[in-house]
Amino acid sequence: MVQILDLVIGKTFSNFEEIETLMTRLKNEFFYPLKIVNSETIQTYNKTVKSASKICDEKWRYKNAKIVCCHHGKHRDRGSGKRPNQNVFACECPFFFRVVYQQSLEKFTITSLFLEHKNHPISSEDIKTYRKAK
Ligand SMILES: [Zn+2]
Repeated sequence: MVQILDLVIGKTFSNFEEIETLMTRLKNEFFYPLKIVNSETIQTYNKTVKSASKICDEKWRYKNAKIVCCHHGKHRDRGSGKRPNQNVFACECPFFFRVVYQQSLEKFTITSLFLEHKNHPISSEDIKTYRKAK
C-alpha cells in the first residue's frame, strides 16, 4: 500500500491542529474528502473520569476522533426520520483513521486506520462537486 504522508498506526501528533492540517493536506493534495465523526471532546471525557489525575486540559480539544471519508456510510439510511440529502455521498467507503489523545504522552496517536478508498472516484472534480453541494 502506498504510504500517505506517513499515516501509520502509532504515528503521533503534538496537537489536534496538526491533525487538522493533515486533513487539509489530504483534501488539497490527494483529493480526499474527509470529515470527523464519532469524536469525543475533552470536555465530554472529563465528565466521565473518576479521578482528578485523569482530567485533561481542554486545549487538547478531542479525547478521540475518527476521521472518515465523506463517502463513508450507507447510501440509504434505515431510519426514516433523517433528512434525505444528509448522506447523499455515502457509498460505504471504508477509509478512516482514528486518533486518541494519550494523556501520558501528551500527544495524539493513530490507533487504527484503513487507507483505501472504495466505491467512488478520487479526483479534483469529485472534491469540487462535494464542496459545491456542501
Ligand atoms: Zn473514500
